[in-house]
Order: sequence, then structure tokens, then C-alpha cells
Amino acid sequence: KTFEDSAFSVELMKAIAKQAYEKPTPIQCQALPIVLSGRDIIGIAKTGSGKTAAFVLPMIAHTMDQPELGKEEGPIGVICAPTRELVHQIYLEAKKFAKSQGIRVSAVYGGMSKLDQFKELKAGCEIVVATPGRLIDMLKMKALTMLRATYLVLDEADRMFDLGFEPQIRSIVGQIRPDRQTLLFSATMPRKVEKLAREILTDPVRVTV
Ligand code: AMP
Repeated sequence: KTFEDSAFSVELMKAIAKQAYEKPTPIQCQALPIVLSGRDIIGIAKTGSGKTAAFVLPMIAHTMDQPELGKEEGPIGVICAPTRELVHQIYLEAKKFAKSQGIRVSAVYGGMSKLDQFKELKAGCEIVVATPGRLIDMLKMKALTMLRATYLVLDEADRMFDLGFEPQIRSIVGQIRPDRQTLLFSATMPRKVEKLAREILTDPVRVTV
């Protein structure tokens, strides 16, 4: 398998080549065709597997496909992750591919000035990476709306549950249109995560690495 199989745009292929990612990792081989076909997915994968690019690359392709791109009505892609460290890592991985495509990525997490984050979100972004609690704060402050969001990723869902973020996750999901594409990644699938997946994903494909 190669990245050429994914039929990414010439510009996105250039950004991938720049990272010297020679070939897709096993999770990318499995997940990319499914996600690019528009299906929901449950990915059982750990950090280090290349799972971030497996959801970031299709998110960028999805964002580039939006006819409304350029109008500022909130993010198209929303990624929730349990900790500020993971949010920052995902942010860096997304930036590698987004920047050259003219896609703006914002990272939102606790411990950073709420006013600064409010201002950054108000300036507009196409992709937001966030911890659930701080994203809720920003939504309450009307720093952003979810009106344009059509691609949602829940990363390390089991850890988000361990940290008590289930109500925040449910609130965020409830604010995003139901015809969105939803991706759930988790290292393990405890019963509570399985139940959430059943409730918020539509006919998901399950991949395990
Ligand atoms: P992740 O599991 O998403 O945290 O990724 C682990 C590391 O692998 C990150 O540093 C990525 O930049 C890198 N990576 C992701 N996909 C590939 C690939 N196809 N080839 C080489 N490195 C990759």
C-alpha cells in the first residue's frame, strides 16, 4: 500500500512527501480507505501507531472539499483528546499538513489564558484540537460555534472517560450536526466507551492494530 492509493490532492501529497512518510503504517492502511469513503470508524490503536495522521489526513481532505471554505463560521473538523500534551501533539501533526493547504488549526486546552484562546478562535480556524472541558468553556463564551462542523474525532476515548470527561464529550457531540462523520479511537474498549460508540457513531467500521 502507498499514500497514492488514497487519491489525496497533489498539494496534500507534497506535504506528505515533505514529512518523508514513505508508506502508510498498518493503522493508516486500514483506516484511510474507510475514512475517505465517508464511513464512521472505531479504531483500536495506541499512540505510536501513526493513528494521528490516519484521522488528520482525511480531515484535511474533507476540509478542502467544503464549498464554504473561507467563510468564517467555526471549525469544520473537531478533535477531542484527553490531555493538553496529547492535544499539543495532535496540533503539531495537523499543522504539518494543514499549513501548506491554507487550513488554520487551533489548539484549546486548560492552563492557557482563556482570553487568548477566545481571541484566537474568534479570528477563525478550520480545525480545532481541544480538551473537552476547555472546549465547553469556549463554546459557552461563544468563541466558536459548531454550525459548520462535519468531522469529529474522539481520540483516546478510554482515557477521556477515565478522566471523567463523559458529560463534556456528550455535550460537544450533541452540538454537532448528526450527519457528521465521526471517528473514535481508543486503546481499549470498556463497556462505557462501547455504549457511547453505539450511540454516537453511524454503522461504524471497526479496525484493530
Ligand atoms: P502517532 O501514533 O500518531 O502519535 O504517530 C507516531 C509518530 O509516527 C509521529 O511522530 C508521526 O509523525 C509518525 N508517523 C505517522 N505516520 C507515519 C508514516 N506513515 N511513516 C512514518 N512516520 C509516521
